[in-house]
Amino acid sequence: MEDKVTYVITQPCIDTLDKSCVEVCPVDCIHFEEGLDRKLYIDPNECIDCAACEPVCPVSAILAEDDVPVEQRPFTEIDALWYTDQALARERVEALANAA
Ligand code: SF4
Repeated sequence: MEDKVTYVITQPCIDTLDKSCVEVCPVDCIHFEEGLDRKLYIDPNECIDCAACEPVCPVSAILAEDDVPVEQRPFTEIDALWYTDQALARERVEALANAA
C-alpha cells in the first residue's frame, strides 16, 4: 500500500475560520460545525494531497503533514479525531487555544 499523506490545519486557524480552503478543495474534505468549532478540520481519509488549500489560507495554517512543526503536531491527530469524536476534538482545540 502506498503511503497516504494528508494536509493538516494548525493553530492559526483557531478563531480565524476563513474557509477559502473549503472552496478550493476538490474532494470536499474540509469540514466544521458553524457555531461549535473554532477551527476547520481536514479528513485525512479523504484528502488527496493536492495542496490546493495551502496557498489560499490567509493565515498559513495549512501544512502538509510532513511539514508540520513539532509544536503543531497535535493538530495532525486532532483533525483526524474530529471525524470520529467531534466533542473530544473540540476539547483538545480548546485546551491548545487556552495554552497559546
Ligand atoms: Fe483538500 Fe487538496 Fe487540501 Fe487535501 S490537500 S484538504 S484534498 S485541497
